[in-house]
Amino acid sequence: MASTEKLRALGLFDARAPRYTSYPPANHFSNRVGPAETSAWISAIEPGTRVSLYLHIPYCRRLCWFCACRTQGTSTDRPLVPYLALLQKELDMIGALLPTDVQISQLHLGGGTPTLLPPHMLRELGQRLNTFRPLAEDMQFSVEIDPTEVDQARIDALAEIGMTRASIGVQDFDPLVQDAIGRDQSFDTTRDVVGMLRAAGIDSLNMDILYGLPHQTRARMADTVQKVLSLSPDRVALYGYAHVPWMAKRQIMIPTEALPDAEARLELFDTARRLFMWDGYDEIGIDHYARPDDQLGRAAKAGTLKRNFQGYTDDAAPVLIGIGASAISRYPQGFAQNISSSSHYAAAIERGTLATERGHAMTDDDRLRAAMIDGLMCDFALDLPALEQQFGVTRAALMDMTARMRERFADFITLDNGVLRLTDSARLIARLAAQEVDAYLAPEGRHSRAM
Ligand code: SF4
Repeated sequence: MASTEKLRALGLFDARAPRYTSYPPANHFSNRVGPAETSAWISAIEPGTRVSLYLHIPYCRRLCWFCACRTQGTSTDRPLVPYLALLQKELDMIGALLPTDVQISQLHLGGGTPTLLPPHMLRELGQRLNTFRPLAEDMQFSVEIDPTEVDQARIDALAEIGMTRASIGVQDFDPLVQDAIGRDQSFDTTRDVVGMLRAAGIDSLNMDILYGLPHQTRARMADTVQKVLSLSPDRVALYGYAHVPWMAKRQIMIPTEALPDAEARLELFDTARRLFMWDGYDEIGIDHYARPDDQLGRAAKAGTLKRNFQGYTDDAAPVLIGIGASAISRYPQGFAQNISSSSHYAAAIERGTLATERGHAMTDDDRLRAAMIDGLMCDFALDLPALEQQFGVTRAALMDMTARMRERFADFITLDNGVLRLTDSARLIARLAAQEVDAYLAPEGRHSRAM
């Protein structure tokens, strides 16, 4: 890794940059995309296309202060019944437009807390999803699990409906850190849930941890990572905590004076990273670690890794349909996001119209830049001859588009056989390099820290 001085000189510690889970980032979506565009885009999907489905459950029992997800608290199951009916109705509307012979390649239940749903609702939803369209033979079905909000009966229901991967939120096991982020979750509870999942035959486990939380130190981070390693997940996402209280209001509860500064964040990241590497995990993209035999690791080696709204994926489906309040869909023609407010989402679906509120229709320039940003974020490289061929652009145009990036990161980039490659510290600077080819650059300060 490059020296701290070198990284500081590059502005890494001050910079804020999008996470590029989409290009353009969702803050550039506009109301020029609505139900009519979504309807046309779904109708244009070719028979035989692989399609992924994402279902968003926006409810949580607890509202953790660090969390920037679109969630709302509920202490009862009362809102769940009508919400499930809305999801069913939205699936009906999409089903009426979608060719019957597409293949479902991935199902993902996210939120919020999908495991809030009682077992009979999980079964009902699973039954619907499993019969919505034919499932691909290699279909993966992942579910986000809050270990404090799941039990044996729900795990049995999830296994029954075909769940193949659990994505378990950990963040940090240290009690002081948990106190400061409003999220109480003991290691013992997490370990017991991991045991239940494995006993139910769900043997692909992903865990999320965060660096940059209040009161984190290298020792505390090392302790959390050791505990995570003792549970032997197949994948780990090591995200940087994004302190953006202007967007995520609950974050005003976070004691800002206890937040590590950018250089301390780098140390925390590096501490965790080294421990995962020592334990035999492969580094995937900017912030994921995977066992060498995991599909994500194999995709990274094969150069087929992709970005999606959850981070990295090996899912190559060209269509992702998001269902539920605030869910985002990706079609070859562009992005479409559902209404965020649950009540307005409900009103649209009850009226029988698709709930798209905003989105973005891709231009040829967007597609080219999206491929370049994917290349930088997934492979830390731009294969210029391949881009020329795929997008019909000239080498001169590509050199022009990358001029700012090449100049700013001159010490960190090589050009060999037409491949521009980020070398030293690529994982740290990939977001900043990607930002240099982003045509929608927003004023700094409205995104999370690049480090
Ligand atoms: S971290 Fe999970 S449980 Fe906590 S508020 Fe966010 S979605 Fe809900």
